[in-house]
Amino acid sequence: MVELIQPHIVAIPYPAQGHVLPLMELSLWLVKEGCRITFVNSEFNHKRVIKASSGNNDVRNKISLVSIPDGLGPEEDRTDLKKLTEAIAQVMPGKLEEVINLINECDENGVSCVIADQNLGWALGVAEKLNIRRVAFWPAAAATLASLFSIPKLIADGVIDSDGAILKKQGIKLSANMPTMKPSDFVWATFPDPAMCKMVMELVVENNERVKSADWIICNSAKELEPGAFALFPQVSPIGPLLASNRLGSSAGHFWPEDSNCLKWLDQQPHNSVIYVAFGSFTILDLTQFQELALGLESSERPFLWVVREDLILNGGNSAYPKGFKDRIGSRGYIVKWAPQQKVLAHPSIACFLSHCGWNSTVESVSNGVPFLCWPYFADQMFNQSYICDVWKVGLGFNKNEFGVIGKEEIKNKMDKLFGDETFKERALDLQAKVNSSVKGGGNSNKIFGEFIDWIKTQRG
Ligand code: UDP
Repeated sequence: MVELIQPHIVAIPYPAQGHVLPLMELSLWLVKEGCRITFVNSEFNHKRVIKASSGNNDVRNKISLVSIPDGLGPEEDRTDLKKLTEAIAQVMPGKLEEVINLINECDENGVSCVIADQNLGWALGVAEKLNIRRVAFWPAAAATLASLFSIPKLIADGVIDSDGAILKKQGIKLSANMPTMKPSDFVWATFPDPAMCKMVMELVVENNERVKSADWIICNSAKELEPGAFALFPQVSPIGPLLASNRLGSSAGHFWPEDSNCLKWLDQQPHNSVIYVAFGSFTILDLTQFQELALGLESSERPFLWVVREDLILNGGNSAYPKGFKDRIGSRGYIVKWAPQQKVLAHPSIACFLSHCGWNSTVESVSNGVPFLCWPYFADQMFNQSYICDVWKVGLGFNKNEFGVIGKEEIKNKMDKLFGDETFKERALDLQAKVNSSVKGGGNSNKIFGEFIDWIKTQRG
């Protein structure tokens, strides 16, 4: 027998900004569809989200925000992924189980489904143990997930060894319809430390196993963006880009307060003129690189909006800018610590996005028809750059000089090239149209999301 209930969903993201935001977006979407959501952040991130929203209760009125410890002390370094991963594995599964048991005691229908970030295989394990239906949420490109699922084949073909080390350097295709991938761009291989590479590989293999028993694997991407990857792994369901239809217009889950004043500055800039520069939540630049970027923006002679997070510059501070930079730039440049990025990318004055190519940034820009200048840093960003530059042809990458730095001349040259060739914008608008029609009524992502919602709302009795 099948009955319809108000589903109570526990959503748990990997504890990083680029994972919390899209799962929050999905959760808000599910609320709109009549679901109840308990959103489980780590205590550390929960505090940041609450502080950054500074009393705006909009989200808390819709979603129950709860937190569990991640196993590290308040001052411990959470950029040390090895330490963080080990601490999480020790503490979070037990705490998640407690949260679910508590809900089950208070809510007569109990938790109907757990949606966990694909990187948290253990959370799917907790749901399995408690006999709860489970969904793995993949917030990045399907091609990246395809590379993780293909690890056994990559080992069998001698492309990598069992520790993830690269044995063959030349590009490979996971299937005839997928773009060429450079083995050095595989997520685990972007960690320079072999011990980290091995640890990430082992985690991936464990997650792959857990995910096999999930009821759904949903991905924040669209068939129109990655037909080959979705054909290779049809069990992965494209439901995105979640932000493309700008359904909710509400942002939540940010770790830093958004500085909306930049939108007023954007209002004063000519249509299609501004370079938006942002490196997501994790990327770090050393001082030389930061200064070259500043000088490149200066020499471009174009308006720019630049996100300089407090922790963007390695050992940096306010004195990191080249001498006299801010005076010379004047009102031509606007610098913020954290921008309302989705609103920025939707603003008509934005001409291009100088981006680190995180997947959220990638799909947000694609959804707004904004071409890219690509500056990837690590993890999946290298591969995302190849989608942008080689497959969709909506952006240009930078070349490093003999000192391993992207120099100011290179930055200016690539900006001039992108602005001087209208075909980048034309292709970006074509891609935007395809992606947006996918999330609208009758589109691929829309249909699959509809099936997913129907499944969520139906519980076996
Ligand atoms: N973001 C933002 N304001 C900023 C910079 C980034 O709101 O000033 C958001 C951006 O819209 C995206 C997320 O932070 O949703 C970053 O995710 P992404 O996958 O691009 O990069 P990551 O931070 O994971 O490296």
